Amino acid sequence: MRAPVFAANWKMNYGPSAARAFVAAFTARWSPRDDRTIIIFPPAVAMSTVVQSLANRSDVAVGAQNIWTEDKGAFTGETSAPMVKDCGARYALVGHSERRHVFGETNEETAKKCAAAARNGLTPILCVGELLSQREANTTNEIVLRQLRAGLSQLSRDTVASMAIAYEPVWAIGTGKTATPNDASAVHAVIRKELEGIVGHDAAAIPVLYGGSVNGGNAKALLAADGVSGLLVGGASLEVESWVSICEA
Ligand code: PEP
Repeated sequence: MRAPVFAANWKMNYGPSAARAFVAAFTARWSPRDDRTIIIFPPAVAMSTVVQSLANRSDVAVGAQNIWTEDKGAFTGETSAPMVKDCGARYALVGHSERRHVFGETNEETAKKCAAAARNGLTPILCVGELLSQREANTTNEIVLRQLRAGLSQLSRDTVASMAIAYEPVWAIGTGKTATPNDASAVHAVIRKELEGIVGHDAAAIPVLYGGSVNGGNAKALLAADGVSGLLVGGASLEVESWVSICEA
């Protein structure tokens, strides 16, 4: 198993000035550790600033919250994988629940975005997760598997073996409701079984993150849950002390 992954999704918070201030405060407070992987996902407009602010901190990587399916062209307002790569990003979130449920991103689009990330040398982190109504209808596994299979459908075996997955139940994102470690483990087991079917033993090294109202108080228990190898954090990553307490989990 690789080092656990701690990923901060800032969503639409922190432009360049605030991002620079956050990184200065975080790096003053957090000493490099080689037993964990830390990734910050700033808004696209703050990405270069964050990369520059982390110039002396190779222990903290940067990723894009979203990319477009194509590499360039007439797609006003979008940001492509080669562009974020050029800014210094190494990872790309794909299929975050807000992309799916606020912006209507489809499974077909997540497949193309994963492929765009991979062909441009970015590591995709494919996000999957069910709505509350789907959990209540006992269709969680079916929904998660459909999202997973679609998202991975255009990737080579080697890309799948070197990417990451994030299980984020939609009802737990930004709501203060967290899946129990047992609930998280049950879905992580389904994801891991599917990954094993694609890459065999190499699946053990694929980080599968949990996300959904993670905070300093619940991070340790969620990270200790069977099959959970990292945390994807939104709200609680916006404040230095709470982000540090999560990274210490
Ligand atoms: C997220 O944005 O991926 C997330 C999990 O948000 P929050 O931690 O605020 O629930």
